[in-house]
Amino acid sequence: MRRASVRARLTAWYGAWLLTTVAGLGAAVDAMTSRTLLRRIDAMLDFEFDEAAERLAAGGPAEEPAGTPAAFHDVYRMRVWTPDDRAAFESPGLAGLPPPRGEGHATIDVPSLGRHRVVAGPVGAGARRRIVQIATPLASFDAEMAALRGVLWTILPAGAVAATAGGWWLAGRAMAPVGRMTAAARRISAENLGERIEVGHEGDELGRLAATLNAMLDRIDRAFAAARRFTADAAHELKTPIASIRAEAEVALIARRTPEEYAETLRSVVEEADRLTRLADRLLILAADDAGATTARRPFPLDEPVRTAVDRAGGRAASAGVALRLGSIPDVEVLGDPELLRQAFDNLIDNAIKYTSAGGEVAVHGGLRDGRAVVEVVDTGPGIPPDALGKVFDRFYRADASRSRRTGGAGLGLSIVKAVVERHGGRAEAESEPGRGSLFRVVLPAAVRKN
Ligand code: ADP
Repeated sequence: MRRASVRARLTAWYGAWLLTTVAGLGAAVDAMTSRTLLRRIDAMLDFEFDEAAERLAAGGPAEEPAGTPAAFHDVYRMRVWTPDDRAAFESPGLAGLPPPRGEGHATIDVPSLGRHRVVAGPVGAGARRRIVQIATPLASFDAEMAALRGVLWTILPAGAVAATAGGWWLAGRAMAPVGRMTAAARRISAENLGERIEVGHEGDELGRLAATLNAMLDRIDRAFAAARRFTADAAHELKTPIASIRAEAEVALIARRTPEEYAETLRSVVEEADRLTRLADRLLILAADDAGATTARRPFPLDEPVRTAVDRAGGRAASAGVALRLGSIPDVEVLGDPELLRQAFDNLIDNAIKYTSAGGEVAVHGGLRDGRAVVEVVDTGPGIPPDALGKVFDRFYRADASRSRRTGGAGLGLSIVKAVVERHGGRAEAESEPGRGSLFRVVLPAAVRKN
């Protein structure tokens, strides 16, 4: 079954409670007013009864209480009965009623005169014992009650209906932003992620919800933009080596070549293919990181990946004429994936050798700082300009594009370093003095080895 709208349910609840309250209030006012009025009438009857009793007790003439003002009979009617059930006196109109029974107050119907309130009770003793009954018409009481009920049962339900209609309107107004938010959320897709939901009043719940949804859209928008940029940059980087392979092959095909020339062409094709493989590997690492791939987590000594990276770079350093030195590495254990971390150190050492000219030096050393392991890769290369320093860890960023591309870089090495180190709970930093060299620092949470 389809559930009613929040607006309809709110109004139904509100209206039902309001009507119940109003009905209860009306009934209570009705009952209290009628009780108060009857009590007042009863008090007057009691007063008249006492007066009559006094007159009778004083042995007033016959049974009719002499001296009773004529006006008395307009408002009060009286009956006096002897113990042997004879009427000693009856006001006009009351004749023919059954003899008064019992004591106290009651409401009776008097034929042709209407409803009456009565009080009855014994007066005197022995042979002078009488039952006296005083009655007063309830016509004005009934008229007053009818007027009150008329007012109560007109104003209260009308008020309740008006308030329920107001509630419906208010609920509609309160829920209107939800409708607008739903429409906006329906409109927003990958094509118009820049669109935002109208916030309305920031202070209320719906305003806060809209602001929270907008903040979420901001994050999604940024992630989408980054993914788009990544794909575009990756495609761009892939195009260069592919174009170069194609050009080499085309040139070789134009005319017959010597075996040496073919060998040279194939060598440069292999070189470009290597470049493509390296690029694909790096893209895969970053894509896996974006997808939140889980890192293998095992404790391993920090010097393991550092030493392997330095050992592997030895040949490259030698052929570049750069001195590669390994200093002390703290004897600590790191939790994570040594292969990934080795890749990060590979990139750092690779860059340091790549950007340092022959005769320069690259040093790798470490230490402990505030309970964390620190590994630094320092070179005597050209350094990095201050405005580029903050961007070197960005994907596809090259401080000196022409030089970097010549050396085969796609601007992904340092972004991999950052991603890997952060995945291990650490951080990567860069410092540089242009003209004198650069320093790349990796800070990792580590445990001192116990053996
Ligand atoms: P690339 O593959 O282009 O080297 P990286 O992400 O490894 O990309 O580095 C980004 C940029 O940072 C490089 O293009 C280069 O300009 C600069 N850079 C990185 N390492 C060094 C270094 N040791 N000395 C000077 N510049 C560096």
